[in-house]
Amino acid sequence: MLKLSNRAQNLKPSATLAMAAKAKELKAKGVRVIDFTVGEPDFDTPTHIKDAAKAALDAGFTKYTQTGGIPELKDAIRQKLKRDQGTDFSAEEIIVTFGVKHAIANALLTLINEGDEVIIPAPYWVSYPEQVKLAGGVPHIITTTLEENFLLSAEKLKKAISPNTKALILNSPSNPTGSAYSAEHLKKLLRIAADHDLAILSDEIYEKIMYDGQPFASAMTVLPEIREQLITFNGVSKAYAMTGWRVGYAVGPKHIIAKMQALQDQQTSSTVSFVQKACVTALTSERSESAVKTMVVEFEKRRNRMFELIQDIPAVTCRRPPGAFFLFPFVGAYFGKKSLTGIIDNATALAEYLLAHAHVATVSGDPFGAPGYIRLSYATSMDNIEEGIKNIKHALQELK
Ligand code: PMP
Repeated sequence: MLKLSNRAQNLKPSATLAMAAKAKELKAKGVRVIDFTVGEPDFDTPTHIKDAAKAALDAGFTKYTQTGGIPELKDAIRQKLKRDQGTDFSAEEIIVTFGVKHAIANALLTLINEGDEVIIPAPYWVSYPEQVKLAGGVPHIITTTLEENFLLSAEKLKKAISPNTKALILNSPSNPTGSAYSAEHLKKLLRIAADHDLAILSDEIYEKIMYDGQPFASAMTVLPEIREQLITFNGVSKAYAMTGWRVGYAVGPKHIIAKMQALQDQQTSSTVSFVQKACVTALTSERSESAVKTMVVEFEKRRNRMFELIQDIPAVTCRRPPGAFFLFPFVGAYFGKKSLTGIIDNATALAEYLLAHAHVATVSGDPFGAPGYIRLSYATSMDNIEEGIKNIKHALQELK
């Protein structure tokens, strides 16, 4: 058998995708599974965006484009940044990629040398540490707790910075916790990172999915003077229910964006031509904003209901977060208890138990760097939320 590279040997598959695959397997056997693993809006892409893709196809817009995105799309992103962030960026400071995942991976490959440390607050999105390692870096995980609303404190950040620290990754609103930084809190973190000359990677993909009227704080807005150290990531996946279209973008200093483009030249070339045209419509049409609003209103109702139902489960603690579409309850009080098939001693075992016995798919907190928690996505119907949480409650009560 051929030997794999060290890089490949050390690489873990995505745990969130793995749990979703297990749920699908069970469904394929005819079992009715309620799926709380979903990492994408359950709404369809708005019609006007689909129509724009169809029109581009019909017009024969089917060839390679500029690697970093068609000028029209870069222009639409510039308009968006002006409108939402009040900032002015040039086309050379923007690159269009195959989703935000791709943009972050490219940025890390562009910035990180072997052994460089990258600070990642936990709970974190599963791909950050793996992407840092792929780039040769060392993830430096800082734990945050439910009591801290899963927000990184200025003190913890200061303590974590060493001469080897190269970058800080922030994600607000967060996957998996739904927590979001206020402008004031974020400003403090950015100031510290900037004073230590770190690269700041701000993943703002859940920008549009905020509740309770809490304003979204973008890194580029709260501290505009750190512009030369900041790379911001955003895209169309979550806001416009376009996860399968695969478009994201990064905004940052010209010399970094230029190298990310060179990397993309060699690895993937541009993202899909006619999809880029649809993204222009997504980012510029007023209909998109009303579609987002409708979706967010519905998500907020579901968040409230799921949160309410969880309050009724003994020994489960949960916060009601202001963003994204996840709840992240603490379930550690059940560890050490017995099911018919054995002892539940961690969140992964608990998630597997819930799938097998309650037919509810959740994601263990373990791959998010948060043992003791599970992630529940409410990007599913109200009926599923009612039934799924009821079933989880029953299954937990059966543990002895
Ligand atoms: N960042 C975070 C925090 C996410 O949750 C996701 C999607 N799960 C991504 C990035 C990836 O987004 P995209 O689909 O645009 O690659």
